[in-house]
Amino acid sequence: MNRVYNFSSGPSVLPLKVLERAQAEFLDYGNSGMSVMEMSHRSPGFDEIICAAEQLLRELMGIPDNYRVLFLQGGASTQFAAIPLNFLTGSKKAQFVLTGLWAKKAHAESAKYGDCEVVASSADKTFSYIPAVGPDMVKPDSDYFYICHNNTIYGTTWHTLPETGDVPLFADVSSSILSERMDVSRFGLLFAGAQKNMGPAGLTVVIVRDDLLGHKMDICPTMLDYKLQADNRSLYNTPPTYSIYICRLVLEWLKSIGGIEAIEQTNRKKAALLYDYLDSSKLFRGTVAEQDRSIMNIPFVTGDEELDRTFVSGAKAAGLVNLAGHRTVGGMRASIYNAMPVEGVEALIQFMYKFEKEYHKS
Ligand SMILES: *Cc1c(COP(=O)(O)O)cnc(C)c1O
Repeated sequence: MNRVYNFSSGPSVLPLKVLERAQAEFLDYGNSGMSVMEMSHRSPGFDEIICAAEQLLRELMGIPDNYRVLFLQGGASTQFAAIPLNFLTGSKKAQFVLTGLWAKKAHAESAKYGDCEVVASSADKTFSYIPAVGPDMVKPDSDYFYICHNNTIYGTTWHTLPETGDVPLFADVSSSILSERMDVSRFGLLFAGAQKNMGPAGLTVVIVRDDLLGHKMDICPTMLDYKLQADNRSLYNTPPTYSIYICRLVLEWLKSIGGIEAIEQTNRKKAALLYDYLDSSKLFRGTVAEQDRSIMNIPFVTGDEELDRTFVSGAKAAGLVNLAGHRTVGGMRASIYNAMPVEGVEALIQFMYKFEKEYHKS
């Protein structure tokens, strides 16, 4: 077996222990004589899996009892439409901060259904920073205030959440969920595609305050009705059973290594190693305002596109794969999610160091 260090932004690296456990249980799960993939979603065996996944997520994130946890499908992108269909129904006004492609897409989808104001944007500097948002910018009659918490493509994070008063704060946490402590009670709704820090692509977790449910638009498709999904414990139709099982294994793994507090420490250490190197390098540089740097996605460039390509292919040959930046921005990006070990980041830095010695002309 020859596993590489996979810096993909998503789908991304999973803990080896999780993959090994899934492999061991693949043909015969818990003496059932069948694979989880072959089990009825209405069976006691699967019920135990989905209940355990929810319980673990609640425990790890400290999710208060008045929040519902949904295991849905369609990816984070489907929630861009589900959110207005469920919540843009009071004043029919919402507010958005545009910090990158995912926030823009969420805004465009929401704007099909109501008045969606752009409060602030960092488009002027290629989304390399998080714009300032003061409490005075929040309209008290907004149905929700929307942010993308960690901007996977550009590598920025909201390290301080905007103060939105009584207006529910909604956040896309696809690439930051489980990576650092989050005060769930600060949010009306959190959602995440699983493929960054939680499991296989397609599975999507929604965490929503229960008093916000039950006001959907009449046109809301049944499958996107969060209240119906909550009332049916995410079992209205056949959920992505195998992906939920893998998610449960990831959550068990995270708990076994000390939970979110422990992984946050490791994540900060990994990010600091890479940022420190970038800050001292004469060839490479980070592209993001220092105070807004993500600890999950770290974009960097040499300033020479040809050299960037040489770097990406050289790194690949050295077993450090998927380091090309997003197709819309170029350069490089190292996604260092929970499952990326410190050794992977150290190997990357070592390769960058050697590359710099070879290619930097002083
Ligand atoms: C990956 C990603 C998405 C898109 O997720 P899909 O599951 O592919 O729809 C949305 N938002 C953020 C922040 C992401 O990182």
